[in-house]
Amino acid sequence: RSATVAIVGRPNVGKSTLFNRLVGKRLALVDDQPGVTRDRREGDGQLLGLNFRIVDTAGFEDHDAATLPGRMRVQTEKAVREADAALFMIDARAGVTPLDEEIARWLRSEDTPIILVANKAEGKQGEAGLMEAYALGFDNPLALSAEHGEGLVELFDALRPIV
Ligand code: GDP
Ligand code: MG
Repeated sequence: RSATVAIVGRPNVGKSTLFNRLVGKRLALVDDQPGVTRDRREGDGQLLGLNFRIVDTAGFEDHDAATLPGRMRVQTEKAVREADAALFMIDARAGVTPLDEEIARWLRSEDTPIILVANKAEGKQGEAGLMEAYALGFDNPLALSAEHGEGLVELFDALRPIV
């Protein structure tokens, strides 16, 4: 069986954009409005010759619940637990937010290996956010631009030992 990689993170960081790039088909909706990905979506991901199952999650996109466990949909928890690795995505331009910190705390309590990805880092724009990302306590955060296709070799290097 091929390895499974889940993409997790707060709304609007670019999870579905990366999913679409890896799957190569418009299976996940991308929108400027947070909360567009209604369910978890799965596809066959490809990256520079690596093949893996990729899961786009939206478990943090329900703003009605007051607590983090309430926001964590069962599907997102399940997706991360069942995955061989999870890409934890933050917005490098926005920097680390309180919700990022809450998600990080939860992910540290899970056994799934985490690859921290600072997205929207095209050009030099994400450098400050990438620096902040180190404070979340995961090794070697990588800078990515899901939209512009930058940082994909670094993502390949991070995924290769796992998938
Ligand atoms: P999700 O809610 O995490 O799934 O985020 P989406 O993939 O729906 O993207 C949210 C917004 O961020 C959209 O307007 C995307 O076009 C934009 N976006 C995604 N990736 C990048 C990126 O690498 N750079 C920039 N500048 N914008 C991006
Ligand atoms: Mg989405």
